[in-house]
Amino acid sequence: MSKSKKILIAGGGIGGMSAALALLRRGFEVEVYEQATELGEVGAGVQISPNGARALDELGVYGRLHAASCAPRRKEFRLWNTGKAWPMFDLGDSAIDKYGYPYLTIYRPDLLGALVDGVCAIDPTAIRLNATATGFEQDESGVRLTLADGTVATGDALIGADGVKSAIRREMWGDEEPKFYGLVAWRSVIPMDHLPSHMQAMVGSTWIGPGGHMVNYPLRGGKLMNMIGTIERDDWQVESWRVEGSKEECAQDFAGWHEDVQTLIQTAPSLMKWAFMERTPRQTWGKGRVTLMGDACHATLPFLAQGAVMSIEDGVILGRCLETFDDVETALQRYEGARVERTTKMVQGARENTGRFHEKALATEEGAIAYMESEWSRAPITDRYDWLYRYDVMTAEI
Ligand SMILES: Cc1cc2nc3c(=O)[nH]c(=O)nc-3n(C[C@H](O)[C@H](O)[C@H](O)COP(=O)(O)OP(=O)(O)OC[C@H]3O[C@@H](n4cnc5c(N)ncnc54)[C@H](O)[C@@H]3O)c2cc1C
Repeated sequence: MSKSKKILIAGGGIGGMSAALALLRRGFEVEVYEQATELGEVGAGVQISPNGARALDELGVYGRLHAASCAPRRKEFRLWNTGKAWPMFDLGDSAIDKYGYPYLTIYRPDLLGALVDGVCAIDPTAIRLNATATGFEQDESGVRLTLADGTVATGDALIGADGVKSAIRREMWGDEEPKFYGLVAWRSVIPMDHLPSHMQAMVGSTWIGPGGHMVNYPLRGGKLMNMIGTIERDDWQVESWRVEGSKEECAQDFAGWHEDVQTLIQTAPSLMKWAFMERTPRQTWGKGRVTLMGDACHATLPFLAQGAVMSIEDGVILGRCLETFDDVETALQRYEGARVERTTKMVQGARENTGRFHEKALATEEGAIAYMESEWSRAPITDRYDWLYRYDVMTAEI
């Protein structure tokens, strides 16, 4: 494809910035339209498995992020009440030996910051803020993206990277009503030195119990501890990352859980609460010169920790397709063809993990021991995760 082509991207989150960087590094002209008045990510953690670390390397930001993150030694399961531990994966050097890259835990603003800096280093004018995409038109000569202030941007292709409530998806495919999934989540980031020393380990823990689970892992070289607790509840259905809840309510949700879980709740500087919605992953993403990426087309429950990672992979594959196939429509079809099956399988796998993390047999240690042996021994873990982590964005077929 001619490198002078201009690609419009609606949405400047992790997915949109990954696509922008992948395209800029290949010589395309890129304009990112982001609705926010300033760039920023919520102050929370994100797990970047080896497939994501590999994609970040391709984007040129791996070194910086590796230095700013944590590479936990292992992930483990803990039983909700007694704290009994089971290994999930060996990470650290084992992940590098097996997959070529470590498993990183990153503070989200650091991830977005590295991508934005990468974009600005190539083209300081590529990102337009306070620019809300409202719709588009296309014909054989190009695509016109309309913004809320009436401005019209023109380009050769448009990528809808505008998240779960995507305006570009709505324009192409109509409204999609998400379904409340019956889960409420709590999140916080805790200064590590506020926690007792036995909780300051470079380990990712998933506390599992009947009807709920809590994940905690270190960030920023061990200076911060991220926590996300999920509980089955149907009385709160607000899908927002910016609503604060109370410590008392969170403690009530996890009443009876291990004292380390109580410590996480009690030391949390603030506790944000939100409801999980479910969306069916789309099997068709694009039309003509327009396509979708990230949460706009494959939003997922976070129980495989792959939503952001998949949006980074989408960005790199999009870059490869637009570079390889001269015709824009063909390039976008090849991109969709390369991504739909993998991202759909990921969304389904994350859904299946809800039941596995919240299993009734976990109520007692005796039940838990038998359950963990059948569901979370090495073979089923390998089946569920290996295909995700082995994926190589640069050699995957397009
Ligand atoms: C609790 C939780 C934990 C998670 N943990 C992990 C994890 O450990 N690992 C992982 O890989 N993933 C994780 N995820 C998933 C991950 O956060 C998302 O999949 C990822 O952020 C999606 O990126 P995106 O760029 O597609 O969408 P978003 O991050 O939502 O970005 C969309 C951007 O578009 C902008 N926008 C929206 N509408 C418009 C418009 N009309 N015009 C212009 N701009 C617009 C928004 O302001 C935003 O900047 C988690 C998610 C949750 C909820």
